Amino acid sequence: MDVVRSIDEIRLMVKAVRDRDSSIGFVPTMGALHEGHMSLMRRARKECGELIVSIFVNLIQFDSGDDLAAYPHQLETDIEIADKEDVDIVFVPSREEIYPEGFCTFVEQGELAERLCGKMRPGHFRGVTTIVTKLFNIIGPDRAYFGQKDYQQSEIIKRLVQDLNMDVNIEVLPVIREKDGLALSSRNSHLNAVERSNARCIYDALLKARSMIEANERGVGEIINEMEKIINLVPNSKIDYVSLVDPDTLDDVSSITGRVVAAVAVWIGSTRLIDNIMLEA
Ligand code: AMP
Repeated sequence: MDVVRSIDEIRLMVKAVRDRDSSIGFVPTMGALHEGHMSLMRRARKECGELIVSIFVNLIQFDSGDDLAAYPHQLETDIEIADKEDVDIVFVPSREEIYPEGFCTFVEQGELAERLCGKMRPGHFRGVTTIVTKLFNIIGPDRAYFGQKDYQQSEIIKRLVQDLNMDVNIEVLPVIREKDGLALSSRNSHLNAVERSNARCIYDALLKARSMIEANERGVGEIINEMEKIINLVPNSKIDYVSLVDPDTLDDVSSITGRVVAAVAVWIGSTRLIDNIMLEA
């Protein structure tokens, strides 16, 4: 496995892969790798000739300096994990490599980026669409793999690729969860033991939405109310949003017909966690 830090070097390696007529699978990450990231790598490994993983904590998608400063770093462990997963190239550029002095071009999406997390995290998705565009331009993958854990992000990226005619297939894979249902996230490491145990309220709330719809409840307000009750029972929890949205437009639904995404963003103490599930009436 090669660990590559410069854009020039990875471009040369990508060219060599192309010369061999091999396909490129790409998994962009911010490091602190866990089973969620590994599930993306495993799928990409099966489907593509060459597997490239990037590790880059994208400063421009952080809306709070504290969150950026606290973001977990474990590069050595990450490289070991990538090696075990049979990754071919790990791309670990520096901030200066990606955002040299004078950098001033951003990719900004309209409506999809204004919904859900977009309302609370100004500039976040502009940071995401900008880095993903840059990484796609640098690597030119055939397929890129994302997690449904960040449902809004994956919808934004699908739309980005479509709107800007990027020649890459976007694959979105299921959420990997802990035994109690908590979605794996690099931010879970910020939770203390009590908060970690309380954080299961997020998945419990999502399951409540599922069971209510299965029991033929069709009232959006009623379902959201029950979900919020479950989360509000937890000390030091604060809801950013509990929403039932259309899977394509991310607009709040007014009635439940067909598919709907239940999406939640909740603070457990000082850690903000997001999760979602797809539901069907
Ligand atoms: P991150 O390093 O948090 O930017 O995540 C990199 C990729 O891993 C994104 O496409 C995420 O959606 C995905 N991911 C993060 N957590 C999970 C999870 N629990 N299950 C599946 N995919 C995940």
